[in-house]
Amino acid sequence: MTKLKKGGLLLLLAIAILIAVLLTRTASFTPSEQYQQFSARNVQVDANQVANHLSEAIRFKTVSHDDWRQREDDQYEGFLAWIAATYPEVQSQLTLERVNDFTLLYRWKGKQSNEPAVLMSAHYDVVPVNPGTESLWEHAPYAGEIADGYIWGRGSLDDKSAVIALLEATTLLIKQGYEPQGDVYLAFTHDEEIGSVYGSQAVTELFKGRDIKLAWTLDEGSFVLDGMVPGVSRKIASVNIAEKGYLTLEFVAHGQGGHSSMPPQDTAVSILAEAIVKLKNAPVPGGLEGLSEQLYTEMAKYMPYSKRLLFANSWLFKPLIEKEMGKIPSGNAMLRTTTAPTMLEGSVKANVLPITAKAKVNFRIHPRDNVESVIAYVKGVINDDRIDINVVREFEASNVSDKNANGFNKIAAAAREVHGDDVIVTPGLTIAATDSRYYSEITNSYRFNPMSITSQDLAGFHGTNERISIDNMVKAVEFYARLMSSEQPK
Ligand SMILES: [Zn+2]
Repeated sequence: MTKLKKGGLLLLLAIAILIAVLLTRTASFTPSEQYQQFSARNVQVDANQVANHLSEAIRFKTVSHDDWRQREDDQYEGFLAWIAATYPEVQSQLTLERVNDFTLLYRWKGKQSNEPAVLMSAHYDVVPVNPGTESLWEHAPYAGEIADGYIWGRGSLDDKSAVIALLEATTLLIKQGYEPQGDVYLAFTHDEEIGSVYGSQAVTELFKGRDIKLAWTLDEGSFVLDGMVPGVSRKIASVNIAEKGYLTLEFVAHGQGGHSSMPPQDTAVSILAEAIVKLKNAPVPGGLEGLSEQLYTEMAKYMPYSKRLLFANSWLFKPLIEKEMGKIPSGNAMLRTTTAPTMLEGSVKANVLPITAKAKVNFRIHPRDNVESVIAYVKGVINDDRIDINVVREFEASNVSDKNANGFNKIAAAAREVHGDDVIVTPGLTIAATDSRYYSEITNSYRFNPMSITSQDLAGFHGTNERISIDNMVKAVEFYARLMSSEQPK
């Protein structure tokens, strides 16, 4: 045998072994489908009543404006009075405390009050309707109309639906004579859409100050996703265990003013533009690791063979997977700290050279990075001392909560019992900010609303034609009732 022939055979053998390894790994790349079950209460939900209650709740314009002085306090007071009148059982069985006037904190005392408590939270403030889009709504945004099996209006998804479902669930359990084991706290916050300082941050400080131990918290931050992960036909309950941080930087470029008929080589605008292009061409480094890797690896087990093959052999294909994920905005956001230039400001007149040009760039910080590391990276990329960089607003990514803890298992069990055994439950990462960034300072915090939504529904989130189906509201009440009454593992 010639040397060449021998080499060729060895190469063939190596390829055969590689293929065997790839196929074997893919064959064993299957979901475990092991879930814990808990004993819990079932409730009979009156669909009409729940729909009517959410409809009424939507009619209060509890709108959070960036300038809080635009807040209509009478709408807030009206909504809180409506809660007291509509849910008398909650009012009489639970103790109520108002935090900073408008956030409600209820305590449902448990039989074993010395055990760690749980907190279920939702916000009742809503974002304004984008001026000029009112006529695009099929049903007026604050009318709370019920039509075609849906309740329509601002807050129907984000997040009055959760407020109402929690109150309904508590009422039904009280009517059954149920008493929780440990204490159950309900927080209904009023400023989530403008930073949560007086709502969830104050509630968190209150728990810290009183040394109240929480086993876990549940708040918004994800849903049961229906048809939203390409290649996965089953519904996915993404129970998110962390959220990204936030950083807005202002870039100020300096130039010489003057008439634009005789411009210098570089103006403040061109200096600024170059910096923005540099940032665009150098995304903050990321990768499929940690939480994102767990989530996608779990999802991939339900995908078609070609994708399973890639993920089962990520030791070989990871660069390819990362490249493909990075092309999709939602995939990219899971991989890295994102960079979004959002605001620009230059000269006041077309024929006047700018003395300064300013840009605001918004970063959403992945848990692998922090504010300091992102600023250092940005400075390194821009590397231009004609540009000043100022921090406008910042907060770090949250702690990562335990996906093996009891709270997570109870949420997973309740989601499957209500939405069907077919639902895949997986830990995930919330790419926006929620009240849980404060709660997660003191305990395991889970981000999940128990409604099943499609990408069409999601368009209503902070957008036009926000709505939720009556069926989803019924399921949400069943979910919270099961979760609140989940006790021993079965
Ligand atoms: Zn929200």
